[in-house]
Amino acid sequence: MKLYPIFADLARRAVLVVGGGAVAERKATALLAAGAQVTVGAPTVTPGLQRLVRQGRLAHRAGEFSPAWLDYAWLVIAATDDHALNARVAELAALRRVFVNVVDDAGLSSFQVPAVIDRAPLVVAISSGGAAPMLARLVRERLETLLDHSLGPLAQLAARLRKRIRRRHPDLAARRRFYTQLFTGPVAALLRKGQTAQAAAAAEQALRAAVVEPAGSVVLVGAGPGDPGLLTLRGLRALNEADVILHDRLVSAEVLELARRDAERIEVGKQAGNHHATQDEIHALLLEHAQAGRRVVRLKGGDPFVFGRGGEELEFLRDHGIPYEVVPGITAALACAAHAGVPLTHRDHAQSVRFVTAHCRESLDVLDWRALAQERQTLAVYMGVAGLADLQRQLLAHGRAATTPFALVENGSRTNQRVVTGTLADLSERAEAHAVHSPALLILGEVAVMAGRLAWFGAPPVGEAPGAPPRLRTVRAAPITAQPVRRRA
Ligand code: SAH
Repeated sequence: MKLYPIFADLARRAVLVVGGGAVAERKATALLAAGAQVTVGAPTVTPGLQRLVRQGRLAHRAGEFSPAWLDYAWLVIAATDDHALNARVAELAALRRVFVNVVDDAGLSSFQVPAVIDRAPLVVAISSGGAAPMLARLVRERLETLLDHSLGPLAQLAARLRKRIRRRHPDLAARRRFYTQLFTGPVAALLRKGQTAQAAAAAEQALRAAVVEPAGSVVLVGAGPGDPGLLTLRGLRALNEADVILHDRLVSAEVLELARRDAERIEVGKQAGNHHATQDEIHALLLEHAQAGRRVVRLKGGDPFVFGRGGEELEFLRDHGIPYEVVPGITAALACAAHAGVPLTHRDHAQSVRFVTAHCRESLDVLDWRALAQERQTLAVYMGVAGLADLQRQLLAHGRAATTPFALVENGSRTNQRVVTGTLADLSERAEAHAVHSPALLILGEVAVMAGRLAWFGAPPVGEAPGAPPRLRTVRAAPITAQPVRRRA
């Protein structure tokens, strides 16, 4: 059966809820939020309902159900656990032509309450006509993730300007363009940032402008380590609205899959051997698409501000007056640590963690090795495979104990994740022996010993002695403190 959807204006209208339990409380609360004059009829009611009665927001008719309760009601909800009583309420309501909903009983109901996504005044209601409430709930969850909470304020703003927009753009096509621009351009972006006053000012300015120019913008989005479950909701929304996506090679196909179907996808990743876009070319592409009025998503693996050159791209955009937003992502260090079972800090073993990049000799040369070699801290080394031998040598030379454990995580958080463990003494040797390839992240420090004990994802770590995971105590006893701790002069 197909239901006819309506949105009821219940403001100051009498509604009866029969039942005084938790379900009745939920229904009454939702009805009150819609401004209804709610009466709850039941012998006893929950403390929550009692509170509402005391506050004067709700009327309570104590006692057994009586048909007189139906007088004046526009709607009735039967929320008791007594099937016969619910059926009687439904029958009497039908006789009086009052719409009735019996909770969880579509057969007895003359109206149903949909699953809703509330971005008031914007409300999305979903019904499966009673056929599959669980499916309706699933759809609700999906939509809930897609719709930013700033849609509420956006709808309010549109309501305030509606008459003026109509006057300013009497032509329907022009008006549509204006609304598209209002809902997807800078005004919406300001509301997402919670800048209500600035959004209103920008809307005013747009209303005064002579023509509706589509304003391009760039959202710098962190795609996380690859698993789409680790993308943020905000990142997902940006992908859903994108006209163009400029992405790195590190971004997984599964994440790209989530983007708007007709969005243009451009890979600008750096792939050994193949042509890759230089940073200048990437800047030029960003500018070209944004200036053409498109919504551009610049999608980067992990977090855009961690060894991602995101800062440079934003500086370039700022210099060219292109509006931008940044959506953080789960950086490789966090994803690899989580998926290898290595807490980056630990009360007993590491009070700080450093994110370090070591992708070439020059980047190794500028590192402060004394600081890096200090004990009781964790190093998360990005882009380290080629530089591992140098890294090992320097750390040892600057006093980091040879017994310091490491976990080298290849393809962290992906289905083909591998974790190689060992100690600083044999770091590069083991990486080579196991042919560890990029992308791989090195976690070095006392905490890395946990990889052998807390592993939960992917293949078990390949350690020195398979089957005998290293014990934390062994490492604690290691004579790290016996080494002179060198401090910077
Ligand atoms: N902005 C990214 C880092 C870019 S630098 C972020 O925040 O994660 C690229 C380096 O990140 C790789 O060389 C590797 O060291 C690390 N990396 C990225 N994804 C990884 C993964 N899934 N597993 C292991 N290391 C990864």
